[in-house]
Amino acid sequence: MLDFLKLGKDFSTPIKTKSLDKAFLIHKNSQLYSELGLSLSDDQLLKITTGENKFEQITPIASIYAGHQFGYFNPQLGDGRSCLIGQVQSSGINRQIESQELSLKGAGSTPYSRHADGRAVLRSSIREYLCSAAMQGLNIGTTKALTLVGSSTEVHRELLETAAIVMRVAPTHIRFGHFELFASRGQVAQVKKLADFVIEHHFPALQGSKMYADLLLEIVRRTAIMIASWQAQGFAHGVMNTDNMSILGLTIDYGPFGFMEKYNPQFVCNQSDHEGRYGFDQQPSIGLWNLTRLAEALSSLIDAKTIKAILQTYEQQLVKTYSDLMRQKFGLTQQHDGDHQLINQFLDLLRIYKKDYTNSLRNLTDLDLLSTDVNFSSWLSLYDKRLDDEKVDDRAELMNSVNPKFILRNYLAEEAIREAEDKKSYEKISDLFDLLSNPFEEHTGSEDYTQEAPKWAQGLNVSCSS
Ligand code: AMP
Ligand code: MG
Repeated sequence: MLDFLKLGKDFSTPIKTKSLDKAFLIHKNSQLYSELGLSLSDDQLLKITTGENKFEQITPIASIYAGHQFGYFNPQLGDGRSCLIGQVQSSGINRQIESQELSLKGAGSTPYSRHADGRAVLRSSIREYLCSAAMQGLNIGTTKALTLVGSSTEVHRELLETAAIVMRVAPTHIRFGHFELFASRGQVAQVKKLADFVIEHHFPALQGSKMYADLLLEIVRRTAIMIASWQAQGFAHGVMNTDNMSILGLTIDYGPFGFMEKYNPQFVCNQSDHEGRYGFDQQPSIGLWNLTRLAEALSSLIDAKTIKAILQTYEQQLVKTYSDLMRQKFGLTQQHDGDHQLINQFLDLLRIYKKDYTNSLRNLTDLDLLSTDVNFSSWLSLYDKRLDDEKVDDRAELMNSVNPKFILRNYLAEEAIREAEDKKSYEKISDLFDLLSNPFEEHTGSEDYTQEAPKWAQGLNVSCSS
């Protein structure tokens, strides 16, 4: 079964996947596997991930979309190296049954590959696999990754590399760009068909007389929550083009993403982003810019006045979610007027003294540790005084449930990649997967994975698609 096929031929094209040579399963997300209720041997799972075997006899499809890339409209993009191969019913959180699409990334070219090979290299697949687990662990909306498969198939990038495939899982992989494609062609019937499909399959509760406006409102809400969570956890996506924006508010298309280490709001993780369009502190406003493009694409279904009012809810939702998360990070359960300022003063100190964002916040539960740093002494006395008004006994527990101990630092991903590429050793991937899947727990003995980047890793480069 694959609901997306019901949309018909204007929306996707059947494709033939191209398998990999000497493919081998590097890792599988066992928890996700059981939530999906699959009963496949590892060998069957491997063959489905490489596309050698079909999933339930379904012919894979590549979908067509458009998108604004770095501010400029590209009238036709599409799944250039990904495809949908099937769909399953999962029993996830609260045992709620939800259908989940299975998608392969790197299984060969499609009609939308634009002269590229439709492959993904091992290093970017490892990064996507680990970051999907990390975002899930951080409770941030994300596409998930079920399997990571390596191979001996050679692919040409700047150097010769090997190809890999990740199987992605999400209720839908529909992006803002899917709507933009049909709207830009003036195909309002297809825009409506897509909106109806999205509502029926993913937002059934919205059905009713003003369902298109409610759909946009819900996408605005989810996008604001996703981006607020990125900001609170120091995540930068790197390529927030509208074709990389999920209509479910899920982080999608992991490429040159990065977690901020030393606190710097102007952090740009994507080396190809010379103007810093997608810099860390730009993400909230880019989110609104992207939503405005989506709203334009839906303008045949929603009147202009309503659209304007809906877009105005974005900032409020984002600020609220971000403030709530930050207050929790500082262990502040009551709202006081000066809290915002207190938090910003701390962030300013992190910026001035180039402190590690994640570790500094995690260490906030141990004021003795923080007090050994003279740079923090005057702020600390303000914080100490503010905490007198808090009566929560389990403050540390509350803070540790939102301040991760483990994030996917670039150098950690790089170490895992080098071991995989050079030594064909995959233990580090597995270790990181376990830590990042539960980043708020102590994992005593794994402190090495909380260290700041060593000298060799300080100039690591990541850039666009590979
Ligand atoms: P991204 O920014 O990585 O999401 O990629 C932008 C577009 O380029 C998408 O439509 C991708 O499908 C396509 N693309 C990226 N890398 C490849 C590749 N190796 N082969 C074919 N298409 C690709
Ligand atoms: Mg993309």
